[in-house]
Amino acid sequence: MAQQPTLFEGSKRLVYDDAIELTLQSMQAYGPAHEHWGIAWSGGKDSTATLTLIVHLLDTGRLQPPKSLSVFYADTRQELPPLAISAEAIMRQMEERGIRCEVVRAPLDKRFLVYILGRGVPPPNNNTLRWCTRQIKVDPMTQALADRLDRLDGSILMITGVRQGESAMRDGRIAMSCGKDGAECGQGWYQEVLPQSKGIRGRIATLAPLLHWRVCNVWDWLRIYAPMREYGGWATAAIADAYGGDEAEEVNARTGCNGCPLASKDKALDAVIASSQWSYLAPLKRLKPIYRDLRKPHNRLRKAGIERLKDGKAAANPQRMGPLTFEARLWALSEILVIQDEINAAARAAGRPAVDILNPEEEARIRELIAAGTWPQGWDGDEPTADTPMDTVFSDGSVQPLFI
Ligand code: SF4
Repeated sequence: MAQQPTLFEGSKRLVYDDAIELTLQSMQAYGPAHEHWGIAWSGGKDSTATLTLIVHLLDTGRLQPPKSLSVFYADTRQELPPLAISAEAIMRQMEERGIRCEVVRAPLDKRFLVYILGRGVPPPNNNTLRWCTRQIKVDPMTQALADRLDRLDGSILMITGVRQGESAMRDGRIAMSCGKDGAECGQGWYQEVLPQSKGIRGRIATLAPLLHWRVCNVWDWLRIYAPMREYGGWATAAIADAYGGDEAEEVNARTGCNGCPLASKDKALDAVIASSQWSYLAPLKRLKPIYRDLRKPHNRLRKAGIERLKDGKAAANPQRMGPLTFEARLWALSEILVIQDEINAAARAAGRPAVDILNPEEEARIRELIAAGTWPQGWDGDEPTADTPMDTVFSDGSVQPLFI
């Protein structure tokens, strides 16, 4: 790993606050027990602060380098554009330092939009189908780690950006939330789920060295210190744009996928498009209504009666609503492509970065899956649409006829 010029030489000393000192102590205590380190990086504020600080502490010799450091960038293909653009710049900076950065994505058929529009699985929601975090974040990260571990001897210390602030430190609590109270979707899962995952169990430990940081510590690092040459000169200042720009200190917004169907409001996106340089991203606001519409009965199939499972037993929820019709999928696909085209036309006109919501490979695969008549497991496609009037079947098998 290339050594950066260090300010510990000569009279000038770097200044760290207590939060960073505690992080350093935690890394010094647990880091040396592991030959290899990995950093799970989502591109959001907490994990970017973690990544850039750890690399800075290594660069300046305050941390003894491990035998290997692997950075895993979780690219859901659904990231807020200012975060995706910053992540690319930071990846280039890591490359210049000779740090290995692996971009981790779900396999094509399991990516968010391909799974929804190609296979027909409805967008996730808070009540029933919350498949997304595991499928587009945790499982690909587990696979990438397992592959990496195959090529390494010994164990790996996985460093995450989980941050709970002072109250949680007092309570000794680490929530496994997908993303609440300002956390980034997936981070808690990396901390709690990864070590238990098949294929890597027993070979990874996780550490959240910024667990005690408050949101103001994160902003101080990303906006003031990290961009300074002596702290690494990182391209982190623009990350605040995804959280409200100059107001970022006050906004404790979570970020997640563009139009995340599980969040009631697009707070982070609202904060982004409020700034004039990102206002051309406003059409992204139409994603959430599309996901909501897709979950409506007229866009989905429904089991007509009691469904028999493989073992012959009756499924618990008769007449459940299921996958998206082909018409609904094609409608949503064309709407999303229109959104992308609109944004990119505005981007070209203003000389701003383009977005990549659906690339040609993903679009082609969606169309291919639809053309092949693809349905999720357990569905044939000959079921009625969910808005079709029908007798009500109860789980005990009794039927209430339809009165017309
Ligand atoms: S941000 Fe929302 S859509 Fe994305 S993985 Fe998390 S819960 Fe799912």
